[in-house]
Amino acid sequence: MAFQGSIALIAHDQKKDEMADFARRNEALLKPFSIVATGTTGGRVLDACPSLDVTRLKSGPLGGDQQIGALIATGEVGMLIFFVDPLSALPHDVDVKALTRLATVYDIPMALNIATADILVRTLMPSGEKN
Ligand code: PGA
Repeated sequence: MAFQGSIALIAHDQKKDEMADFARRNEALLKPFSIVATGTTGGRVLDACPSLDVTRLKSGPLGGDQQIGALIATGEVGMLIFFVDPLSALPHDVDVKALTRLATVYDIPMALNIATADILVRTLMPSGEKN
């Protein structure tokens, strides 16, 4: 996959454990890339994988999702992994819509769940290692 820029990681509410597990499972694949994450998610990912290059932005409810949206618009984020919690209340809805819209406008790969995220990170494998 032609992929440029950083990888953005966001996990809502009860999805933070899943994001930490995802990062741990894929640490070797993620390691060559710079990662940006919302505040709490980034802290959890760094706790799980201290070797990763993670820049923590503001927490999502304080504007971190929108900071990531701005980085998509400027081309600095080229892949979005966004574990939305479908069982949480609506307050995150505007952020989900805004990021879905920008990922669509700028045509960057976006995963909203683990199954898709696992497929996306496999595309980061050096081509000789894919099977
Ligand atoms: P957080 O933000 O990683 O700081 O919790 C994510 C969100 O809730 O949008």
